[in-house]
Amino acid sequence: MASAFSIHPSVDNGIQAGADDFAGGTLVCRCAQDPVRVKIDSQSAYNHACGCTKCWKPKGALFSVVAVVPRDKLTVTDHAEKLAVVDPKATIQRHACTKCGVHMYGRIENTGHPLYGFDFIHTELSSDSGWSAPQFAAFVSSIIESGADPAIMGAVRARLKALGLEPYDCLSPPLMDAIATHTAKASGVLKS
Ligand SMILES: [Zn+2]
Ligand SMILES: [Zn+2]
Repeated sequence: MASAFSIHPSVDNGIQAGADDFAGGTLVCRCAQDPVRVKIDSQSAYNHACGCTKCWKPKGALFSVVAVVPRDKLTVTDHAEKLAVVDPKATIQRHACTKCGVHMYGRIENTGHPLYGFDFIHTELSSDSGWSAPQFAAFVSSIIESGADPAIMGAVRARLKALGLEPYDCLSPPLMDAIATHTAKASGVLKS
C-alpha cells in the first residue's frame, strides 16, 4: 500500500537484503560532470534510517539512510577538491559535494568520541548492490524539527515498523549501550 509520505526512496517499496559476501563499492555524487567518487573497501554496518536534521536526505524523504564503515576503508578517489565540510563545529564532519550538495562521507575527528574510527556513508550513492540493509530507524521524533507534521508521527512509526525498521528516538539499544560503555570506561566507573 502506498503511503502519503516517503520514508526514503530506497525503503519505500520494501527493504532489500544485503549480501553476506559483499566487500564494498564506490559512492558517486550526483554531478553529471566530474563527479566525486569515494571507494569503500568494506561492507557497511549499522545501516539505518535517521531522522536527525543533519544527515543528508534526498528531496521529499523524511529520513536519510546512513551506515558506517571503518575510516581506513574509505578513500576519495576522484575530485576531492569539490568536497567541503558542511558544519565544522558538528561532531560528525560531513564532507559534501559543493556542486550537487550530496554528503559523500561523515567523519568524527575527536579521538575520544565513542564512534571515533567510523565514517558515515549513504550507500544509495553506490550502484553496487549487496550493501547491508537498514536495520532500524534512529532519531525518529527529530523529523518534526525538519518540518514534518507532528500529527503524522503515529503513521510514520507504524510504517517504519511495517518495513521492519524499529523506530527509536535516539540510536538503537545496542549502539546506545556501546556508547554508554565507552563513556563509563573513560570515566572509570566501569573497569575494563
Ligand atoms: Zn557533486
Ligand atoms: Zn542523522
